[in-house]
Parts: sequence; C-alpha cells; structure tokens
Amino acid sequence: MEEKIIKFEDMQLSKKVLNAVRDMGFEEPSPIQAQTIPLALEGHDVIGQAQTGTGKTAAFGIPTIEQIDEKNKYIQALVLTPTRELAIQIAEEFNKIGKYKRVKTLPVYGGQMIDRQIRALRFGVKVVVGTPGRLIDHIRRNTIKLDHVKMLILDEADEMLDMGFIEDIEEIMSNVAQGENRQTLLFSATMPAPIEKLARSYMHNPQKVMISREQLTVPSVDQLYFETRDKFEGLCRVLDIEDSGKYIIFCRTKKNVDDLQASLQVRGYMAGSLHGDMSQAQRDRVMRRFREGKLEILIATDVAARGIDIDDISHVI
Ligand code: ADP
Repeated sequence: MEEKIIKFEDMQLSKKVLNAVRDMGFEEPSPIQAQTIPLALEGHDVIGQAQTGTGKTAAFGIPTIEQIDEKNKYIQALVLTPTRELAIQIAEEFNKIGKYKRVKTLPVYGGQMIDRQIRALRFGVKVVVGTPGRLIDHIRRNTIKLDHVKMLILDEADEMLDMGFIEDIEEIMSNVAQGENRQTLLFSATMPAPIEKLARSYMHNPQKVMISREQLTVPSVDQLYFETRDKFEGLCRVLDIEDSGKYIIFCRTKKNVDDLQASLQVRGYMAGSLHGDMSQAQRDRVMRRFREGKLEILIATDVAARGIDIDDISHVI
C-alpha cells in the first residue's frame, strides 16, 4: 500500500493550484480526491466509480488544471458531461481552480447560441466542458480542434449512456489523438457493459478508484417527515419555523410546480421555479437569483433539478 495522503499539500501541486483550492474552502481532500488526484498527476488513466456529491469534479479538475501548459494556446483538456447544468457547474469549478494559473475553461452545450460559443472559443480557451451533441457540432464545424487535447474526461458516463450519447462519445474519443500521451479519466456511478467496453478500447491500463455511498462529502443530514391533512398549510408551517434558509421543494409535475409557486407567492414567500418548459435563459435567471439569495425557495421537478449544485441549501422538501 502507498502511504495514505491526507492533505492537498502532500500532493504534487503547484502553489497556484493549491492556493486556488484553499480559496475554495477545501481543507482536506475528499476520499475520491485523495485517491484520484495523485494517480492522475502521475499520468495514469483512472476509472472512478463514484456518486454525485463525492467531490468528483475537483477530483478530476485539480489534476487537469495542474497539467495544463499555460503557454500552449490550444485546447488541452476536454470534459464530456451529460447535461448543460453539469457542464456549467464543472466549468465554474475549473475556473476557480485555474484562477491563479489563469487557465480558462468554457462550457459548450446545446440550447445556447452556437455563435456565442464560437466567439468565446477564439479567446484562448484551454479546457472545454461540453455535452456530447454540441461538442460533435463544434468538431464538425472545426470550431473546436482536438489535435492538442492530451486529457479527456468522461463525467457521469452511465448517464451519458442512458441519454443515448454513446455513439457521440465514441466519435469524440476517436477524434482525440490516441497514443501514450493521452490521459483519460472516466467517472461513472455504475459500470454497465458499454462503459466497460469503452474503457477497454480507449484507456491504457486504467487504475480503479471506488468510493462507496457512505463516503460522501455531505456531512450529516437530518431526515424528518410530517403527517398532515393539508399539505400546503403544513408546508407553510415548516417554512415558518426558521426565519432564514434556502429551500428546494420537489414536485412531481410541472403543473404542481406552477401551482405551488403561485400559492407561495400569494403568501409572501420568495419562491421561484424550475421545470423543463422553461428556456435556458429563464432557468439561468432563476438559478442566479436563488444562488444570490434573492429567492429563498426553489420549486422544481426532479428532472429539471438534476445536477444542480448550490451551496448552503438548508432544507430539501
Ligand atoms: P460531484 O461532482 O461528486 O457531484 P462535487 O464535486 O460537485 O460532487 O462536490 C460536491 C460539493 O462538495 C461541492 O459543493 C464542492 O464544492 C464541495 N467539495 C468538493 N470537494 C471538497 C473538499 N475537499 N472540501 C470541501 N468541500 C468540497
């Protein structure tokens, strides 16, 4: 067994990256970070089996940013991810990690004007995080060139498979220069056969890292339920127990979301909603207001809320 690494300082990281990680408030690596970062820095391909919430993003973000050559103006790392929300979040986290190193990461995803992305790509982006469909689009238009990509990261590979992206992923992977210099990191909560196959055909002697459910970074969460005759009244009472907080309320349907938002607003709660019928601009706006604390309650359908990552949520209902 290798010596157990418990600190970011013990890893082979530059001052710039270490300081950025410290600024993010990360004091100790989470288990997946402690295992993945040293392997990735040594140049290994890594398969990480981990759920969301384990600190996966930094587990691949830190070694990726560390290995970017600031003087090379080309795209050097590419992250594939299933949804635009995840693409945006990952890019935000990468930009934080790359703050002092001045490494720019751009998210590209379907639903945003491609011209805007093309313009942004011209500004010396070194890392691109994208959804497979939109990435293919850019590759075919030659607005994203992969010749200098030496790191390829697949995040939530099983989700991408479920969403029917497997052929797109294969196309993208075969466009990235093969060979000794390419490093591939693959993360997935489960390992269905097509993902195993992908790993076998495109990865070199991958090292496996497994993190169980119990090792999430999330500390303790209290779980309660209430029996009530009138759900809405019960909800308001729960909301009134605390005078401040950030709440996410899940509803089953879009109509439930709209109805609840209207009812809460009438009672004076600052509630916004998120569901699949909204445009990307509307969703971004709601998310921004919720992050900034201008909304105290976000009501969402399960699907619309997938992959959102917001600090300091106090209650999930
Ligand atoms: P995943 O990608 O596994 O879903 P994230 O990378 O989004 O998980 O991490 C979940 C949350 O934990 C994020 O808010 C992230 O900023 C935070 N986090 C990640 N690593 C650490 C760490 N080492 N220390 C403190 N917080 C962390």
